[in-house]
Amino acid sequence: MNMDDVFEKARVAMNAAAQKTEEVVAVSKLKLEAVKVNNEIKGMYEKLGREVYRAKDQKPHEDVVHSLCEEIDELRAKLEALDREMAELKKVVSCPSCGQKNPKENYYCMKCGAQLKETTGFDAEVAGEEAQQETAEND
Ligand SMILES: [Zn+2]
Repeated sequence: MNMDDVFEKARVAMNAAAQKTEEVVAVSKLKLEAVKVNNEIKGMYEKLGREVYRAKDQKPHEDVVHSLCEEIDELRAKLEALDREMAELKKVVSCPSCGQKNPKENYYCMKCGAQLKETTGFDAEVAGEEAQQETAEND
């Protein structure tokens, strides 16, 4: 093995690690955002409950109840979008050499052909699933 190969392998490995870190950071950010939105929704439910409770003694403020419900709908839509974004991030793997997003099951980049899965244990979960499927088929 010549030194260029060694450096190339090291470079690709470092890029892959950096990409993985970026992905983890992005997912953590989305998770944090989702927690925030969830708390906002909780707060809205509380306000809504208080407003409904008022109806015991006096007429409920229909417009307040209505606008609270609308805000909750908006927040829930936001939460769904965050969930979708997280699912997308978990489904793709970025190419270490060109940055192209590839489906996680790909072994090689569909844009530049670089190897996507060099580190062992990186996708142990997926590999385990595939093994199970094979066993099922052979049954
Ligand atoms: Zn690539």
